[in-house]
Amino acid sequence: MSDENKSIHAFDFNLICEYFLTLERQGPGSPEVTLKALGFTGTLTNTSRIADIGCGTGGQTMVLAQHTPGSITGVDLFPSFIDQFNLNAEKLNLQKRVKGIVGSMDNLPFRKEEFDLLWSEGAIYNIGFERGLNEWRKFIKTGGYIAVSEVSWFTGERPAEIHNFWEDAYPEIDTIPNKVAQMQKAGYIPVATFVLPENCWTEHFYAPQEAAQELFLKRQAGNKNAEEFIANQRHETRLYQKYKAYYGYVFYIGMKM
Ligand code: SAM
Repeated sequence: MSDENKSIHAFDFNLICEYFLTLERQGPGSPEVTLKALGFTGTLTNTSRIADIGCGTGGQTMVLAQHTPGSITGVDLFPSFIDQFNLNAEKLNLQKRVKGIVGSMDNLPFRKEEFDLLWSEGAIYNIGFERGLNEWRKFIKTGGYIAVSEVSWFTGERPAEIHNFWEDAYPEIDTIPNKVAQMQKAGYIPVATFVLPENCWTEHFYAPQEAAQELFLKRQAGNKNAEEFIANQRHETRLYQKYKAYYGYVFYIGMKM
């Protein structure tokens, strides 16, 4: 495999964190899409509890907080993301209702049936879609909701270049009907599924990275790993432009039965 085709998992975590810390979002999405998904998740009250797993610096969490009552706990593996998350909550005067904690999605510090809504944008892939749906289910109240976004194939077949890229980066990538069936099998009623529009990648994810990449390369001047990491990010952006008819992010919303 050429260096350009390395998966992001091959790079040093500190490098990845330093790069993504400066960005509002660490994955494809948009405030509009967060609110659209929220519209499928039932009524929340002042006592409702929401968890945002793999929250990053909280781009989507703050949008959720500004449009829901109740309190939100964001969880992310990386302390620097959580520090930024809590600063962002304070800046928006949301710190009483929104708290970020460091933790891992495969060992969440939550109680059984603690949450009315479990949220996760562009992050469940870290544990795997099916495993995440199964393991996190116990933290949701019966009748509560889960809303996750996940990269998915739009078609049954696709060109080898993009097929091989994603099979290497995330072997659990699958078609939308197969993901919906997995959600049902895990004990949820599939309530809604929708494809994230292209601007979630172009305008909200890739465009802000252009300036961030230049600054990052200046800060990391002479660091071959950093150069390789940026070349990799740019390769991923080019692949999206070329093959966006075949894959994208999809929101899956389910109700715990
Ligand atoms: N939800 C954010 C967004 O949409 O902007 C971040 C998405 S980013 C693609 C994936 C996030 O998952 C990162 O913030 C990463 O630190 C976090 N992550 C990776 N492994 C994790 C784990 N085991 N437990 C919790 N978070 C994890």
